Amino acid sequence: MDFDLNDEQRSIQETVREFVDRRILPVAQENDINHHLDMGIIEGMAELGLLGAPIPPEHGGAGLDYVCEALICEEIERGESAFRTLISVHVGLNSLSLLKFGSDDQHKRYLEPMARGEKLGCFGLTEPAAGSDVAAMLTTAIRQDDGTFLLNGQKNWISYATEADYALSSRRATPRPGTRASRRSSSSGRGTASRRAGSRTSSGSGPARRASSSSRTSRCPPRTWSAPRATASRSRCTRSTRAGSRWPPAR
Ligand SMILES: Cc1cc2nc3c(=O)[nH]c(=O)nc-3n(C[C@H](O)[C@H](O)[C@H](O)COP(=O)(O)OP(=O)(O)OC[C@H]3O[C@@H](n4cnc5c(N)ncnc54)[C@H](O)[C@@H]3O)c2cc1C
Repeated sequence: MDFDLNDEQRSIQETVREFVDRRILPVAQENDINHHLDMGIIEGMAELGLLGAPIPPEHGGAGLDYVCEALICEEIERGESAFRTLISVHVGLNSLSLLKFGSDDQHKRYLEPMARGEKLGCFGLTEPAAGSDVAAMLTTAIRQDDGTFLLNGQKNWISYATEADYALSSRRATPRPGTRASRRSSSSGRGTASRRAGSRTSSGSGPARRASSSSRTSRCPPRTWSAPRATASRSRCTRSTRAGSRWPPAR
């Protein structure tokens, strides 16, 4: 088995390493001390295609393999763990789940703008009393008459919740037995509706901020965050070393 990196993988490693040296490392300590999230760096990551690296080009991503994704994480982590966390939640947990389980409409509305780096995504699973023990989750989703879901519960530790446009959030299909929510749902007859919602996670549009508020719907208006140069930068790509991949972007 050949463990050597191919030309494309080496090119990515070098490009991201150079980006980290130039953009992240010089300000990492200062940003950390000042509790400052540098959105300019995130825009730079979007320009390089790092917010959609393993997502297929037809969904707005760069179409790179998972070795490339690992190299990107390794290099970004070297500069600042917070930006590697963004890749984990935005790409790994949100976008790749949507790619696998999302409908065509969800791909168009959520996945593609995230893969292009125009919108940010986060992943909301953890709750005050549920982490590794996912079955202890209390958040419920009740289907409303108009087809949207009313999410009710609390989430915490959600990385980038205050910045993200979209949250892929987990919830119970039915309230946990013995809780106030289960009593409410059985007395209001909503149990059936919530069971219809299924046990899959759902991606609601809108700011993921206030993720720990007690009641949120998936109908919030989307908050705009854009990396205006991201699309332009990638559309200048002229060379691709792998069929279907869009790397490296022209610089
Ligand atoms: C910086 C940071 C960012 C995070 N970002 C996110 C995010 O974006 N989205 C999100 O959903 N969550 C996020 N989390 C939450 C994180 O994923 C949870 O902390 C994690 O799931 C662990 O859950 P917990 O804190 O409830 O710990 P627990 O599950 O309570 O674990 C506590 C201890 O018990 C041990 N333990 C757990 N289960 C068992 C078992 N069955 N047998 C033996 N030992 C066990 C664990 O190893 C650990 O030592 C983040 C956490 C941190 C610290």
